Amino acid sequence: MLLQQKDLGAEYYSLQSQEIEERIRQRITELRNDILILCHHYQSQGLFQFADLSGDSLKLARDAALVQDREFLIFCGVHFMAESADILAHKDQKVLLPHLHAGCPMADMATVGAVEQAYKELLDVGIMQSATDMVPVTYVNSSAALKAFVGERDGSVCTSSNGEKVLQWALAKGEKVFFFPDEHLGRNSAAALGVPDDQVLLWHRGERLGGHTLATLHNARVLLWDGYCEVHMRFLPDHIRQWRLREPDIQIIIHPECPHDVLTLADQYGSTEAIISAVENSPAGSKWAIGTEVNLVDRLQRQHPDKEIHLLASSSCQCTTMDCNQPVNLLWLLDNLAAGKVQNQITVESEIAVLAAKSLEQMLAIS
Ligand code: SF4
Repeated sequence: MLLQQKDLGAEYYSLQSQEIEERIRQRITELRNDILILCHHYQSQGLFQFADLSGDSLKLARDAALVQDREFLIFCGVHFMAESADILAHKDQKVLLPHLHAGCPMADMATVGAVEQAYKELLDVGIMQSATDMVPVTYVNSSAALKAFVGERDGSVCTSSNGEKVLQWALAKGEKVFFFPDEHLGRNSAAALGVPDDQVLLWHRGERLGGHTLATLHNARVLLWDGYCEVHMRFLPDHIRQWRLREPDIQIIIHPECPHDVLTLADQYGSTEAIISAVENSPAGSKWAIGTEVNLVDRLQRQHPDKEIHLLASSSCQCTTMDCNQPVNLLWLLDNLAAGKVQNQITVESEIAVLAAKSLEQMLAIS
């Protein structure tokens, strides 16, 4: 969802980065008892240096929910993450996003309207007898509205660290599973569970019955929505082959949002937290090529000078939408708070929040 970000004005655009940082520090000191700054691993260091809490999206939302004495949760991440924080936050807390254009293109690829239409088509042709026959699973990188759709049908959210576990639960619960919105996390999880390839179908948005015949749909066990992360799509099998030739003792670790042909060549795969932990726990002198967002890889390089750490791809793989959040936007938000004005608040309607929380709680019960 693209919300309209206010023009900060010439006063802010003319500031130099050092001045911006100094003014942010002053505001943080002034507002210390009211604010908590949360930063996703993919934010640039310019913002990350101000984080009270850092982590992946779900960890941040859950950690923030434990801090109830700060009124304002400033979420340096993207829109769906701020929504999750709002769902899990105390009712008096407000979640603010530094820049309203910080969205996730992958989350936006699965609108509730399109997902409802897909379910209707499957019902109409008898692939499902009722709307709950097809167990929906959504990656946490999805809108609150889609999480609510899933919660309403007794499905579950999953993360990049528990995708396999949640998919296994869903396959035991129903005959078929619809996995949203990331094709690759869904495919990688299904492959890890040994679901045969011909029972995993890619649902093509905009095509009737996702582009499939009734026979192939009847045979399918897992339907994958055709969403993807444009950052993780940039990693290719050739990148791994090149690194292995250049550095035979290098270890390749990638995020499971990468395509399956990349994942099968890697030594390890895992969530951002798993990648950080693998690097942290490796001995000095270890060599790594990492397939995930460049800001995290750069940070690992700075934190571990005793290890050789590379981005798997040669070109920059940056989450450009998350990068809409810049230090100047944080300063603007803090200046407004100091003046008693709340800007860029992300709220989830209570009906949606209740159902979305149900799908999140289901995941916690599975995990
Ligand atoms: S890295 Fe990919 S999945 Fe994550 S927020 Fe950016 S576009 Fe979305």
